[in-house]
Order: sequence, then structure tokens, then C-alpha cells
Amino acid sequence: MSAAAAGAAAELVGVTKRYGGARPAVDGVDLRIEEGEFFSILGPSGCGKTTSLRMLGGFVRPDEGEIRLGGASVDGVPPHKRNVNTVFQSYALFGHLSVADNVGFGLRRRKVRGEEMRRRVDEMLRVVSLAERRGAMPSELSGGQQQRVALARALVNMPELLLLDEPLGALDLKLRRQMQVELKQIQREVGIAFAYVTHDQEEALTMSDRIAVMNDGKVLQVDTPTTIYNNPASLFVAQFIGSTNALEGSGDGATVQLACGARLVAPAPGTGVADGPLTACVRPEKVILSPAGDDAPGAVTGTVVESVYVGSGTTYKVDVNATSIEVLEANDSGAAAAIPVGSRVRVGWRPEDCLIFDGNGKAAGRCAEDGTKVPQPTRSRNWI
Ligand code: ADP
Ligand code: MG
Repeated sequence: MSAAAAGAAAELVGVTKRYGGARPAVDGVDLRIEEGEFFSILGPSGCGKTTSLRMLGGFVRPDEGEIRLGGASVDGVPPHKRNVNTVFQSYALFGHLSVADNVGFGLRRRKVRGEEMRRRVDEMLRVVSLAERRGAMPSELSGGQQQRVALARALVNMPELLLLDEPLGALDLKLRRQMQVELKQIQREVGIAFAYVTHDQEEALTMSDRIAVMNDGKVLQVDTPTTIYNNPASLFVAQFIGSTNALEGSGDGATVQLACGARLVAPAPGTGVADGPLTACVRPEKVILSPAGDDAPGAVTGTVVESVYVGSGTTYKVDVNATSIEVLEANDSGAAAAIPVGSRVRVGWRPEDCLIFDGNGKAAGRCAEDGTKVPQPTRSRNWI
């Protein structure tokens, strides 16, 4: 990596791309991908992920703003003159060339030959765990192996940045999970910055050093997986990453009244909970259930309407004053028996697990104090 890079492998600075539709496909985006970083661009279909990636690769030219690679503007620089490679969902391997020749293809074009070529191809085949298959033809390989060949072929030139556009999308779920872990290991080993596009939030959480969440051509939040999950900056991000109970309510500056009946103490003044409509978000794994028999005044109670054993835990749907609340109880060693459908339960959560979003969907803090009379998670329970 050149010293001129000054820390950033790639940057989009105020970048807008219009294809002629009502709204720009990419709308004033600023992104900075650090050297050696696994950076994911995550968002729903059509939000502008591929367009952003193609501008980095030089396949699409921005209407406004600047693309920089290694600190320098690459305006007008064609794809093959950028120190960037791309891995697509369709592996596009050469069917008439062996695994080793596929991987060495780019080197041959760069006039790398003989022992040097063999050494670099073998090294890359070792990185992707295909050393034993160097003589095989692509048709003899599984989908996952073919994708690893495509990856080795893209990495063998040691580009400064690798662009990956939903590369695991064609694989079945189990193989995809395995490849997610492998890809991350490979990325660490080669130390090349990855710009990874996916619409799969779990995939982004699993692999990334940082994630940019996009919607409607705009970047909504850029942060580590933990921060994106625990401190989403907007209601959109809270709902797009993982699952959450988005509970409607309204605030008067001091208290929050939810439609399900819970009264909460609003986040500290000045954090933005105005008078008016708001949404409180609690993740299913943060909801605590206990028997309704020991009701405290102000406690919120409901009825279990669905109970599904999922192995690692049990998910419940609890009807609380016509609001459906999802709950995930982990199947840990102390777990009690599943709560039968029809049981009356107390529903609560710790104040720090409840995020408030204002009427515009902007994060406005956590409830300062618990208003739901959070029940103690009990392990021996008599359901009524
Ligand atoms: P994503 O990869 O997030 O699904 P894209 O970047 O492919 O999103 O597309 C963003 C928007 O731009 C979409 O509305 C899409 O229909 C539009 N778009 C993408 N490519 C083209 C193109 N070549 N011509 C016209 N519109 C396009
Ligand atoms: Mg796309």
C-alpha cells in the first residue's frame, strides 16, 4: 500500500449518481473505507449499493462528487487502470482453464511468468484452501469452491481494494454461513480492504469491521456491527438490522405512553423526545416475561398467543392490549419450561434496552427509568 493512501483505501466524497429516475440512485454519499478494512454496504434492494460499488470500480461515473483511491482522485480513470478488482455473484470462471490457470490469468496479463507466477498462484490457492485442486477444471468444483477460485483470481494481483457485490447470494444457506467465516479469515490474512455489498443484515454483522447502512440512495449510519445493532441512529436502521418490537406511543416531554399500555419515563430532557408521536423499540431478546399473578401496580400484562421452540430458544408472541410483542427467550442451562399458549404474563424490559425514536424516526435516547415495573426473570414459574 502506498504512503500516499494516508489511511483511506477508498473514499466517496459528496457523490451523486442519477440514472434519470425521479430520485438519484446515489444521493450525496460520503464514505471512507480504511486500509485493510472489511467494509460492508448494507441496505434493501434498489437503495444504491451496486451503483456505489460500480463507481469505486470505475464502471459508472458520478454526476457529482469525487471518488478517491489511495488518497487520489480517480476521475476519468478506467476500471483496468484502477488498483481495484471485483468479485461478482456469478463467478465467471474460464471453463476451459484449470483452477491454477484461472487464478494466474490476471498475472499472465501483467507479464508475470514462470516460477514467480507459480509461487503466487500456489500461495493464493493455499489462502483459499484449494491447494489440492490446482489442476481441476471449474466444472469439477462445487459452487463454494468455484467462488473461492474467483476470489483467489481477484486477490492474486494484490489490489488495494476488492469489490464484492453479493458474492455469496447464489449459495445455499449453510454454505453461505461457512463462506462468510472463511471470507473474513481470508480478508484478514491478505490484509486487503474489502468493500462488500449485501442486503443480508446477518451477513454484514458477521463479517464486517464497519457497516454503512443505506436507504433511498443515502447513507443512514456508518459504524461497527455492535454499535449499529445496539445504538441504531434511526428507526429504519433499528428495524432493518435484526428484529425489534416497534411500539407506537406518544410523549409529553417527561413521560412516554405506549399504545400497549406501558408508561415509561422519557429520556433526559433535551434528548429530543418532543410532545407528540414516537416509537419505542425493544429487541425480542430483551423482553422479560414473568407470571402475571404477582402484578405490581402499573405492570403491563398480556396473553401468550404463540409459542415456537427454535432449538436455541423459544419465541413467543404476546398480545398486550391489541399490540403484538415478540419475545425470544434463550434456551440457556437455567431455562424454565416453555410458557403455554394462553398464559397471562407480565411483560417488561430494562430501561436501557428501550430506545426511543421521535416522530421523524430519529434516535432520541433511552428511557431514563423503567416504567414497566420490569419483572425479575424467574426460572421456576407457575403460568396461569
Ligand atoms: P442495489 O444494488 O442497492 O439494489 P442499485 O445501485 O442497483 O441498487 O440501484 C439503485 C437504483 O438505481 C434503483 O432504483 C435501480 O433501479 C436504478 N438503476 C441501477 N442501475 C441502473 C441503470 N443502469 N439504469 C437505470 N437505472 C438504474
Ligand atoms: Mg445490487
